[in-house]
Amino acid sequence: MEDVYCFGGNPLDRASERRDDKDWIATQLDDPETRLLPLRDLKPFTRPSALPALDWQPVAPWRAQIDGGAPLIFLGLAEGRAHFAIDAAGADTPPDVDSELIDVRVLAPTIPQGEAAILAQARSLLDWHARHRFCAQCGSPTTMASAGWKRQCPQCRASHFPRTDPVVIMLAIRGEQALLGRNRRRPGGRFSCLAGFVEPGETPEEAVRREVHEESGVRCGRVRYLAAQPWPFPSSLMMGFLAEALTGEIVVDAEEIAEARWFTREEIRRMVARAAAGPDDPTQVSLPAPIAIAHHICRRWSSGLDEI
Ligand SMILES: [Zn+2]
Repeated sequence: MEDVYCFGGNPLDRASERRDDKDWIATQLDDPETRLLPLRDLKPFTRPSALPALDWQPVAPWRAQIDGGAPLIFLGLAEGRAHFAIDAAGADTPPDVDSELIDVRVLAPTIPQGEAAILAQARSLLDWHARHRFCAQCGSPTTMASAGWKRQCPQCRASHFPRTDPVVIMLAIRGEQALLGRNRRRPGGRFSCLAGFVEPGETPEEAVRREVHEESGVRCGRVRYLAAQPWPFPSSLMMGFLAEALTGEIVVDAEEIAEARWFTREEIRRMVARAAAGPDDPTQVSLPAPIAIAHHICRRWSSGLDEI
């Protein structure tokens, strides 16, 4: 089995064959065992306690919002129980619901892995619906269909499906050194793997070589896939790679990267340990926390688990 990182490992049976069965969906919504996860402004309702947990609700208190047309998504089945997400934006919170809203980035590392994965699924889908209300083909307002897995245009009959944007994220390796960059948008000493979107007409391996060259001037040869991570901000699939660097000279793309440099394996091992232990120390170079696949790419290479 491959390694699974935060937002991976979704335990639900998505039961996609049920999505178009309106009677079956209605039956699930009448079932007192069914669980509903409300999100507002893409933040999940959580039970206020020392250990935060997703506030899964019964359907009944939300019936008025569902009947009023609040976006509702069938997420899947677990132990026979249907799980839904609802966009509670603008809806009145039912009076007996006592919840807090916590940002997904903050909440995800503190809840069980499977719950974080379901949250990623719900957040990405609700965000997609909020931003795709009009037909890309004819401009008419579209309606939700297939229990939240499609939008349909009543005018030109086009179907629109939720998008996932592929991103390559990679560590270029030169012997015992690896290339990390510091983003312009993030102040301080935070370095990370280079990354970028796969473009149309490009394989992931080609995107790795192009992005490393564009951002750092370094040419890469062999590229090896490691693992992937859903990243629901809003809807990316982070695909992690090691790349064999063929050149060492660095010429940064000043638009995106403030600084790129080669780090030794030992330096990266120490940065991984610090990032796993807690928040950044502004006086030291740092790496992303374990929520991000960049952390694990660096961890695995620096500890000798993966080689190019
Ligand atoms: Zn249309």
